[in-house]
Amino acid sequence: MDDFLGAIEGKVIRPEDAEYESARRVYNADIDRRPLAIIQCAGAADVVHAVNYARENKLPIAVRGGGHSAPGFGTCDGGLVIDLSRIRGVRVDPEHRTAMVEGGCTWGDVDRATHAFGLATPGGLISTTGVGGLTTGGGFGYLSRRYGLACDNLISADIVTADGKIRTAPSGMRTFSGLSVAGAATSESRSRSIFACTRLLNFTPVPFCIDWSKPPRSCGCSTILCVTLRAR
Ligand SMILES: Cc1cc2nc3c(=O)[nH]c(=O)nc-3n(C[C@H](O)[C@H](O)[C@H](O)COP(=O)(O)OP(=O)(O)OC[C@H]3O[C@@H](n4cnc5c(N)ncnc54)[C@H](O)[C@@H]3O)c2cc1C
Repeated sequence: MDDFLGAIEGKVIRPEDAEYESARRVYNADIDRRPLAIIQCAGAADVVHAVNYARENKLPIAVRGGGHSAPGFGTCDGGLVIDLSRIRGVRVDPEHRTAMVEGGCTWGDVDRATHAFGLATPGGLISTTGVGGLTTGGGFGYLSRRYGLACDNLISADIVTADGKIRTAPSGMRTFSGLSVAGAATSESRSRSIFACTRLLNFTPVPFCIDWSKPPRSCGCSTILCVTLRAR
């Protein structure tokens, strides 16, 4: 294990560490699992190391994005949690109306970055839901009636597969599901064999205008999607 720990650039949290109790928590407080270690990955290389170590040592794996999975698929007992919550860059290409979103991003991260360019895409209603879990499960949001599910707007994904290789699934969900990423959010066994979309998804954002003349809806949600959106 020492070699593995030495190879990780991010943070490794183990049961004896003070942060363990808070780090093992997921959104659903009924889920009470005790992983062997939580790997707060700093980048794709950490994900690869974690996947390889788990495979070689026959450890269960859970990938955590936003941690919102109701059945607790973002954590596990006695295995490695590959926690992507520190990998949260968003790069917007306003010319092509796409965004490259890293694997641990929440919808709040994406909205903040894309709204600066007047762009949006169907995403979660709540800003703290993870892009990875929501999109691999389909993903319904405020813009879906007009522009489809989040997964319909997926262009490609860089993923780490069970053999520890980084691959690109190029053209939307069909190829994506060929690499068994689709359905990650809805099936525990699949989520264990999927691991991580690291430099996650390209999106085709849709243009919209924010009608600032109307007050934000008072749903208690902090995402900017709570303002009235008017598609052009
Ligand atoms: C408060 C709340 C609001 C919600 N709102 C919506 C909504 O508006 N629309 C909607 O469609 N759904 C919504 N959901 C459901 C939500 O989309 C799913 O629970 C989703 O799985 C959460 O994704 P996550 O990344 O936050 O969760 P996690 O628990 O981190 O992950 C869920 C699953 O996705 C996998 N996963 C996460 N990230 C990656 C990644 N980068 N690569 C590979 N696998 C990954 C995990 O392994 C796990 O199996 C909501 C849920 C909650 C709790």
